Amino acid sequence: MEGGFSSDLIVENALVDMYAKCGSIDKAREMFDRMPHRDVISWNAMIAGYAQNGFCKVALKIFELMLHSRTCPDMISFACVLWACSHEGLVDEGCTYFNLMSNSYCITPTVDHYLCMVDLLTRAGYLDDGLNLIIKMPIKPLVVVWMCFLGACRLRINIGLGVFTAMLLFDLDPKNAATYVLLSNIYAEVGRWGDRSHPQTQEIYTKLDKLALEMKAAGYIPDSKRLLNDVEEEENELFLYHHSEKLAIAFGLLNTPPGTTIRVVKNLRVCADCHTVTKFISKIVAREIIVRDVTRFHHFKQGLCSCGDYW
Ligand code: ZN
Ligand code: ZN
Repeated sequence: MEGGFSSDLIVENALVDMYAKCGSIDKAREMFDRMPHRDVISWNAMIAGYAQNGFCKVALKIFELMLHSRTCPDMISFACVLWACSHEGLVDEGCTYFNLMSNSYCITPTVDHYLCMVDLLTRAGYLDDGLNLIIKMPIKPLVVVWMCFLGACRLRINIGLGVFTAMLLFDLDPKNAATYVLLSNIYAEVGRWGDRSHPQTQEIYTKLDKLALEMKAAGYIPDSKRLLNDVEEEENELFLYHHSEKLAIAFGLLNTPPGTTIRVVKNLRVCADCHTVTKFISKIVAREIIVRDVTRFHHFKQGLCSCGDYW
């Protein structure tokens, strides 16, 4: 009975999909193997199921079986296959399937296919190939594609391409905070916490060195608890040392007459160490220092802060 056959298929496909999505991949496979007839949706459900459950190589085997069964794969089949390749880092296989898709099956790649390929190539270290692919995309690459590329620049610690991509993203999607975070992570990976192009850089760092000695003599201990655990102690101190508000305070001390209030505006919440340091400095140099961070004002005077150390 024809109607019965097609409704059976729909139910069976739904069951394969449901089992796979619940993580019962063996049950899904049992159902799939028992099906008397399979269509492209059945195969896709099985391929996606294996890929999503972490059995990417099995997913590719199912895809090969699909090709042998003479079921014509569609764009979803290839999206699942490329996704599996990118999660397993199978660059050669991914490239083969990507070419097979357009050359043998005349399927035009969508953003999803490109995204998988960019992810696959760049995470495996082929940043140039990934970039070439993005540039050659016939559809305008969406923010998500560039974000994926920027993520890979971070993973592969490529400052040049990272900065280039971040600049593009600042234009495309200026309000996307993730771009700023990724770029700052890239700089952090190579120890470039801030640029040193300021004409007074040398003086500012010398001033901070001097203050650090005075602070240590006054009992200051750097608070490095919150920092990345894998950074050496010495680097930790250096890192804390270079937070922008400390540089700004040193700059203020160098360029204003003694006794003048120093005002600093910061777009992030002030960290515990900068807060402690600023308290020490306000006492050592006998200046009032007002820091406005993202949530509030801190008035530092004579070693104390108006926030009472709660912010
Ligand atoms: Zn800080
Ligand atoms: Zn405070």
